[in-house]
Amino acid sequence: MANGIVVASANGSVGMEAAVDVLRSGGTALDAVVAALALVEANPEDHSVGYAGLPNMLGQVELDASLMEGKGLRAGSVAALQDYQDAAQLARSVMEGLPHVLIVGEGARRLAAETGLEQKDLTTTESLEIWKSRADELSEIGSADDGYYNHMRDLVKRMSSDPQLVDAHGTVNFLCRDRNGEFASGVSTSGWAWKYPGRVGDSPIIGAGNYCDDRWGAAACTGRGEMAQRCCTAHSVVTFMRFGMSLEEALTQAMIDLKQLDDPFASEMNIVGLDKDGNPGAVSSSPEKTYVVMDESMSTWDERERTTVQIFA
Ligand code: ASP
Repeated sequence: MANGIVVASANGSVGMEAAVDVLRSGGTALDAVVAALALVEANPEDHSVGYAGLPNMLGQVELDASLMEGKGLRAGSVAALQDYQDAAQLARSVMEGLPHVLIVGEGARRLAAETGLEQKDLTTTESLEIWKSRADELSEIGSADDGYYNHMRDLVKRMSSDPQLVDAHGTVNFLCRDRNGEFASGVSTSGWAWKYPGRVGDSPIIGAGNYCDDRWGAAACTGRGEMAQRCCTAHSVVTFMRFGMSLEEALTQAMIDLKQLDDPFASEMNIVGLDKDGNPGAVSSSPEKTYVVMDESMSTWDERERTTVQIFA
């Protein structure tokens, strides 16, 4: 029997012990990932996921989430979900209850009501304050024609130099290998703050922000989703391991692949990975970024530094 292990982006620390408790009591990797994601989605201090996530251009919180199992490659996702915090639980309902992989917008909200999830205002005083700090600049923009592109480009540039804006993006990743050696991976996010309404990032796109396969391992991303979407980054990491690379080599190669992108919005990218034997690793385009790891032999999670891979000139 394997030693169960969970790997997450640093903001996943609030869910690590719960996830490992699920593994200790014989739960599956999927159970562990969903339990952990629910705690991050409920955390009012995290403005990048679930409740208190930062709103889009119109002040609406729109959540994206996905789950994947490594055994039979089952997957479920929701995107642009409004009014419900439990995006990962809803992704599980898509995976287990519908003959589909991805449900968006109104359909996602309808499914949330049908499955009995609690409807909720996802904004908090603090999240609205952060949102309003830039909303004035965006308030004159009524449509894409009114310069949304230029305003966002400007904002993204400032995000990289203004520490107060660093929290304007973020996502949580969980990868897990359970006692039976089976994998699950999960991602949940409120996406980019001030995003264009209906924008869907990499988090709910299987292969872009999330991928796992029991035979080769798992990977998930945070950072600029459009980059991971264009390079199928999570799937690339797993495929590189399939063809013989170590996890560290696979993560590095997936980051190098992002360098070719013609993208005026290019910004930070981060990947966490777990190889088929349960060895964790993580990379970031920014220095001093961390991730968290906990296995069943540990009393709490361990925060580790990611390898930095330069992707910008
Ligand atoms: N990857 C997320 C998205 O593009 C955001 C982030 O992690 O910063 O929606």
